[in-house]
Amino acid sequence: MSKIKIHVFHTGSVCVSPAVPFGGEHCSTLKASGLFLPQSKRIWVPVSCYVIEHPKGRIMVDPGWSRAMSPKGELDKAAQIKELGSRLLYRVNQGVVPKGEAPSEHLAELGLTPADLDYVILSHLDCDHAVGLREIAAGHPKRILTSKRELENATSRPRFNPMWWEGTGLETFDWNDDQGPAHHSYDLFGDSSVELINIPGHTLGLCAVKIKNADGRFVLLFVDGGYAAKSWQEMIVPGVGVDRAAQKKSLEWIREQSLDPNCLESLATHDPDIKPHVIEL
Ligand SMILES: [Zn+2]
Repeated sequence: MSKIKIHVFHTGSVCVSPAVPFGGEHCSTLKASGLFLPQSKRIWVPVSCYVIEHPKGRIMVDPGWSRAMSPKGELDKAAQIKELGSRLLYRVNQGVVPKGEAPSEHLAELGLTPADLDYVILSHLDCDHAVGLREIAAGHPKRILTSKRELENATSRPRFNPMWWEGTGLETFDWNDDQGPAHHSYDLFGDSSVELINIPGHTLGLCAVKIKNADGRFVLLFVDGGYAAKSWQEMIVPGVGVDRAAQKKSLEWIREQSLDPNCLESLATHDPDIKPHVIEL
């Protein structure tokens, strides 16, 4: 099999309460929201987006933020409230997307347009992963997928806004394999080279992406299952979670995978220590 290439990009950054990444299992929703936290106490973390060049197809994982929410590459309150469709969500997390860092701009850097994507995968439907979807969907990628469980979970909770994905052609997948802590996964190409693995907790349908080559070496994108290597090294669950027991179990699985000698890299979406780079598998 020819090589798999994984491009790790940042679509800008997001400003959140420090309780979001490392709040632990007893963190309340109010504390994680940071609604009463002064701006000076908040932290900025990157919002990663991935493009996988695989012999069987080109995949984007999580578009991230969009150009429309940061038109000049700076914090733009009005543009962001419009894109989020919510003032409350703006208070919970603000984003900045410097010029060149919007998802379609990263594709252009690779000489690609959204139409060159065979799949856009949404690990879950939180705003900092899904708001950029409309920007990518406008360029007609072939298929846009998230788990059935995630869409069901998102349509019943105020933390999500369907305007981020409605009209984009988003499809859902049901589990067709049993990898991971919940024994729920989706084998994208039917050869387990790209497996979307349910790691419930932060959201119910959250999926990590495990990309494996013919030698068994793999890269794990554990998205918001943790916020840095420290999360699984010290077993600190994120402050935002809808099922704490499942979230802990998922983090244990992430730890086990990350310590596997075949694991080349194990990456969280919002880890400040991760710089944009390319991985060859
Ligand atoms: Zn996130």
